[in-house]
Amino acid sequence: MNKAPKDAEARRAIAPVIVYPNDTLPKPDLSMMRAARASATKVDEVIVPPREGGCFRADAGQFFRITSVEGPQVGDLNLWYAHDLNERFFSGKTRALHGTHVSSGDRLWSSLPYLRAMATIVEDTLDWYGMDAFGGSVHDVIGTRCDPYTGYLLSGVQYHHCCHSNLTRALAEETGLPLHACEFHVHDVLNVFMCTGFTRDTGQYFMKASPVRPGDYIEFFADIDLLGALSACPGGDCSATHTSDAAACYPLKVEIFEPDRALLRDWSPSPANGYDRTHGTRDA
Ligand SMILES: [Zn+2]
Repeated sequence: MNKAPKDAEARRAIAPVIVYPNDTLPKPDLSMMRAARASATKVDEVIVPPREGGCFRADAGQFFRITSVEGPQVGDLNLWYAHDLNERFFSGKTRALHGTHVSSGDRLWSSLPYLRAMATIVEDTLDWYGMDAFGGSVHDVIGTRCDPYTGYLLSGVQYHHCCHSNLTRALAEETGLPLHACEFHVHDVLNVFMCTGFTRDTGQYFMKASPVRPGDYIEFFADIDLLGALSACPGGDCSATHTSDAAACYPLKVEIFEPDRALLRDWSPSPANGYDRTHGTRDA
């Protein structure tokens, strides 16, 4: 370990600055969205079985709700632009823009070179949780997804129902694309209902029992046409373990709602990002 300089404490005492002040982000019109939601009727439902994945589609302007049913259960969510799987949810930039955990009013942003709002969180029944004394909170964009490769590295196991595999199988079934092609489209997730943080002493990623109970839900407004995939994580409520069949696991319900389109007449789907993509060259 290197010797600290004389002014080490003064350097540590420098106050942080927010990397991306988000007051200039395109703001969602939550009151318009909620008025539209009040008019909406259910048009589809998908039940994702425990330790499995399932796909759903939500057109721009529709709402999708993920609900805990039967028992406390964490879900791993992937989103793609329905017409181009290359445009996918970008958990890293969503984290940089909104923070480690997301709730009502926050948006899920898409990958480069697209970077536009994919979905807006309009309701979160766990928003009361806030940040606990361990630095834990709900619905994180700091984790990745449980996967069999990390499981093999750490434990030498061949386990096939990690979220990565569940999402891969679900996407293959939905699109008809080969399994291994789908695997490359699976990406870092929104950890729905999961309670996580980083330990203050070692900075390690931690999880703890999710506060979710049957009936709790998180609901999104689709800012663009979406294909979604959700995995009911083999960690169950993620209070103890994952990457095995040891934890108690429960289904998750996804519902799609169609609003009265007249209430969306002043709204349009997220536009393409305005960066010109010349990257400093004269022409591209
Ligand atoms: Zn998982």
